[in-house]
Amino acid sequence: MTDILSSSANVNQQGRLYVVATPIGNLGDLSHRVIQTLSTVDLIACEDTRHTKKLCRHLNISTPLVSYFREREQEKAETLLEMLRAGKHIALVSDAGTPAICDPGAVLVKKARAAGIDIEAISGPSALATALSIAGLTQSKFFFGGFLPANSTERKRFLKEVSALPFTLIFYESPHRVRATLVDMEVILGNRQAQLFRELTKIYEECLEGPLAALQERVKNGVKGELVLIVQGAKPQSKEKPDNLEDLLLWYRDELHSSLKQAVSSIASDLELPRSQVYKKALSVWQKIL
Ligand code: SAM
Repeated sequence: MTDILSSSANVNQQGRLYVVATPIGNLGDLSHRVIQTLSTVDLIACEDTRHTKKLCRHLNISTPLVSYFREREQEKAETLLEMLRAGKHIALVSDAGTPAICDPGAVLVKKARAAGIDIEAISGPSALATALSIAGLTQSKFFFGGFLPANSTERKRFLKEVSALPFTLIFYESPHRVRATLVDMEVILGNRQAQLFRELTKIYEECLEGPLAALQERVKNGVKGELVLIVQGAKPQSKEKPDNLEDLLLWYRDELHSSLKQAVSSIASDLELPRSQVYKKALSVWQKIL
């Protein structure tokens, strides 16, 4: 086996930073390179030492561990940077998946890059890529929003910002918040098609698929495990968005195929008008097609 460290020897005697992806559930996804790197570096910087200790025990690896977590990322990154400068080779891992994707890591990588430290990705699983790879999306453009805000008002505000993007929307979500998120999504985005991937690469992996309203029903009694939510992007709009109430209602009805409820909610907030006023007008607009 080639020694991964001697093959990448650094001429200026600085250490090398390895950014190592670990499995998102299935230990069978551990690659040869991951094992080789974790066994040969001087130190493993990890999100939670208890978690990574279990992984190392499973792999029979005794490399020392040091914690590197979000709350003290700046300070920990400085300490690790000093070690890298002093010639130590360090592997950075998170609890699961790829570091720096909704996980700590970016601060250290940025500092190491600025300091001219060699950085190498030991690529592997990420829940984002895993879900995308089995979603069956034929359009390749997507927007990854990480975790949406926990607060509903902020979540809706964010969703409004991305609502017109003609790209697939992808989010990480927690099981206790997913229903509220699906409800907010329906209000802001309309009843778009969506996929909810649960427990990817694990025994109870599944994909729930359907319009947002139907997914709300599917999770109404609670859902367990880790989740990735994929939502259809906005349909390309044929006409320019109008700015007066009546035309805007017609635009929501005919161009976006929104329900009366969705249109009222979005327009009341867009135009900062009382919902009752928008609702009254919406009733007359919707009645024209009944
Ligand atoms: N860095 C990780 C990555 O590369 O995917 C993500 C870390 S983020 C803190 C954890 C979130 O990723 C979970 O809350 C969930 O939304 C998603 N996730 C992680 N593992 C998953 C899995 N096996 N199935 C579905 N979603 C998963």
